[in-house]
Amino acid sequence: MLDTASNRPELPPEIARRRTFAIISHPDAGKTTLTEKFLLYGGAIQMAGQVRAKGEARRTRSDFMKMEQDRGISVSASAMSFDFKTFRFNLVDTPGHSDFSEDTYRTLTAVDAAVMVIDGAKGVESQTQKLFEVCRLRDLPILTFCNKMDRESRDTFEIIDEIQENLAIDVTPASWPIGVGRDFLGCYDLLRDRLELMDRADRNKVAESIAIEGLDDPKLAEHVPAHLLEQLKEEVEMARELLPTLDPQAVLEGHMTPIWFGSAINSFGVKELMDGIGTYGPEPQPQSATPRQISPDETKVSGFVFKVQANMDPKHRDRVAFLRLASGHFTRGMKLTHVRTRKPMAVSNPVLFLAADRELAEEAWAGDIIGIPNHGQLRIGDTLTEGETLKVTGIPSFAPELLQTVRAGDPLKAKHLEKALMQFAEEGAAKVFKPMIGSGFIVGVVGALQFEVLGSRIELEYGLPVRFEASQFTSARWVHGPKDAVEKLVNANKQHMAADNDGDVVYLTRLQWDIDRIVRDYPDVTLSATKEMM
Ligand code: GDP
Repeated sequence: MLDTASNRPELPPEIARRRTFAIISHPDAGKTTLTEKFLLYGGAIQMAGQVRAKGEARRTRSDFMKMEQDRGISVSASAMSFDFKTFRFNLVDTPGHSDFSEDTYRTLTAVDAAVMVIDGAKGVESQTQKLFEVCRLRDLPILTFCNKMDRESRDTFEIIDEIQENLAIDVTPASWPIGVGRDFLGCYDLLRDRLELMDRADRNKVAESIAIEGLDDPKLAEHVPAHLLEQLKEEVEMARELLPTLDPQAVLEGHMTPIWFGSAINSFGVKELMDGIGTYGPEPQPQSATPRQISPDETKVSGFVFKVQANMDPKHRDRVAFLRLASGHFTRGMKLTHVRTRKPMAVSNPVLFLAADRELAEEAWAGDIIGIPNHGQLRIGDTLTEGETLKVTGIPSFAPELLQTVRAGDPLKAKHLEKALMQFAEEGAAKVFKPMIGSGFIVGVVGALQFEVLGSRIELEYGLPVRFEASQFTSARWVHGPKDAVEKLVNANKQHMAADNDGDVVYLTRLQWDIDRIVRDYPDVTLSATKEMM
């Protein structure tokens, strides 16, 4: 269990004001709309609509590819920094398509908290549930935004109950909605005793906020019709009796989530949520690493790569590695040690991402995300330090659940294909296995859509049409053990053996039976379904 903000020594103010988080949601719940309003209030964009174009591009595969062509956009959307009041928010984007991918998992290793967006009419949907489970593995604090309250939505208690039951987390209301659907007026802010009224006429207008002295304040009646006021009082009374009160420590430990109700498209409830992220969201957290944990207040800089994006400019084959700073104060030009290769690396042109632009990062602090352009030296899972041999842990690579053989449309282009595949493997977009026997490559993914995206990208970025074919194999396991035991296994099972893109030994399986047989016959060898990125 990592330390939490409250039992650690105070962080330097520049670090303490950082909030690094991701949004988790089911497609269509309003993630893009909410992101846009965050940026609007963070002063990062001038006008609503700038993020929208991109959100919509995620809907279909061809649009997705179109977006991918414009790599600049998808890159700057990977991490967005903006200020809100005294806080610096770093919002890390989770991939938009609905296939669960490792990319999503790894993104969540780079944040300290998540904002869970649910649709008030639909409640907890499948993708939200999956992403929530991933957050739970790391006890990430979760703040909840129940969106689309301007439409017919479910009963407030029902929504809260559903979250408590399906996700097994305590829910405490931070605000309480007044009226539903067409009659939705706004919310009663339970944390600050204010009435927030939604303006339906102007979607970008911040809600009118009225200070109230408790539910018996006569001012309420001036703004809320009698029948709604009656209902509000009853419900709030019940909520106070039945639901837990806000416990900031429980929020930081991931056992309790505060919920705000609002309507992102009407800019309603967004500022309260942002205030909540600032007040109840965690400061940059310690990072697990070997041989020791890294604390954000250490003066020496360290960070780890959680994402690599290649081919931003197809002519140059450059890549950007996204580095989450785990500690220290980084300044441009700093020489860091690339721990895996022990080589020094001058970071002279790091970038920070602001809504639609990137700009040179002159400095950055623990909690920030910077992009480092490079030519392939930086891989997912790599650690950079000021010299100490530290290796950040907890960034796994999963065994793929779907395998296919891939061939170049033109057999003479096999070498080109190998190069392209290796690059995508480094990006973490797929696993690539080279079988010991036979030609071609086997590509493994976690979600089926990844095959299509991969095929289109190879064609688009490398001008190589490819064919995917069914493979007899269904999964893969990494092989570990004493050298001679591994060799014995390899020699006796050549038709199953392959090397992954790092050259590590992999056993390709058809059935669970294959795995059981190896476990039985080779007791000194272990097969694992995940591999720590090295
Ligand atoms: P994403 O898939 O989670 O990124 O969702 P989007 O932000 O693209 O929103 C999905 C749809 O819901 C879009 O048509 C939005 O205009 C709409 N939407 C988002 N927020 C609200 C809201 O507060 N009220 C209503 N009525 N519609 C909303």
